[in-house]
Amino acid sequence: MKTFKRIFFLLSLAMIFACQNEQDKVTKPKNVILLISDGTGLSQISSAYFFKDTEPNYSRFQNIGFIKTSSSKEDVTDSAAGATAFASGVKTYNGAIGVDPDTTKVATLIELVQHKKVMTGVIATSSITHATPACFYAHQVVRRMHEDIALDLSKSDVDFFAGGGLKFFTERKDSIDLTKKMSDRGFYINTEKLDQIETIKDQNKVGFLLAENAMPKMQDGRGDFLQNATQLGMDFLTNDKGFFMMVEGSQIDWGGHDNDADYTVAELIDFDNAIGKALDFAEKDGNTLVIVTSDHETGGFTLRSKRKKRENGKEYSDYSEVDISFSTTGHSATLIPVFAYGPGAEEFKGIYENNEIFHKILDATQWTSKK
Ligand code: MG
Ligand code: ZN
Repeated sequence: MKTFKRIFFLLSLAMIFACQNEQDKVTKPKNVILLISDGTGLSQISSAYFFKDTEPNYSRFQNIGFIKTSSSKEDVTDSAAGATAFASGVKTYNGAIGVDPDTTKVATLIELVQHKKVMTGVIATSSITHATPACFYAHQVVRRMHEDIALDLSKSDVDFFAGGGLKFFTERKDSIDLTKKMSDRGFYINTEKLDQIETIKDQNKVGFLLAENAMPKMQDGRGDFLQNATQLGMDFLTNDKGFFMMVEGSQIDWGGHDNDADYTVAELIDFDNAIGKALDFAEKDGNTLVIVTSDHETGGFTLRSKRKKRENGKEYSDYSEVDISFSTTGHSATLIPVFAYGPGAEEFKGIYENNEIFHKILDATQWTSKK
């Protein structure tokens, strides 16, 4: 009887450990997709619920938190400080690309994961050298150094990129054709269109530069670029060691700066479609953490009731109709939502600083651990 009890006890222990190992496996994602909608607060997201014909993909998230977005110096951040916080985990000054408040270079996620052979990608609807994507691979003291940022990209560890900004590679003050340089180094560069996965799957590294500067607006016929690039990036980067990919809906911010409601909403809906692609992939894959957030809000975008005039000339608010108004042509300091899906997603609940996103990704993946 005693022996039986002992065996039973040992068996139970073994089962507990087995379960724990199983749990470790499930909670540690292999891939991370970080989708950033530049200049998007809760009101812009809410607009999808009024103006998108189908249920927004935001509805598919259960784990939701908020970030505080102030930079190291300013209450109201810009995209450079915001993206440096996400990419390198440090708060810095507005305009800084991958450098800390003393202008010292800080390692980015893309640089940090190289020792684990994790593959990496960057996608944007702006120039690929614009502040948000730049912070993931470049180090410059001011964001306007597009040609220097392009040079940083050409020497970086990025395996896949897609966006605009061709002129910063080919029409440079130093007369160097960076696309040629990159091709010579084994990079497959296409400046015409996104390829099918079959065309690029055997390439080492792939880059798409599909506009001289920014990609066209949705309203000017950009089409499905963002969701197709997101799909292509996930398909290309899938490998044994996992991948990290940043996807930016860059122009939601620009609609806000322009106080152009139609521009903002069209870009937001496009971004929501890219979220859909990432979530479809993650649901099927089961081992991918998807995080959706923004660097800051732009425009003081408000979904107010429609102002109308009575016959006697008096104004009133018609609560049966929403209308969009703006309070600024700049950024605002409102808290920004964070949506997470997949292994480790629970860690993104709560209210915390924007640079915590970086630490939470590394805690979830253990990408910087020695093992
Ligand atoms: Mg941006
Ligand atoms: Zn902006």
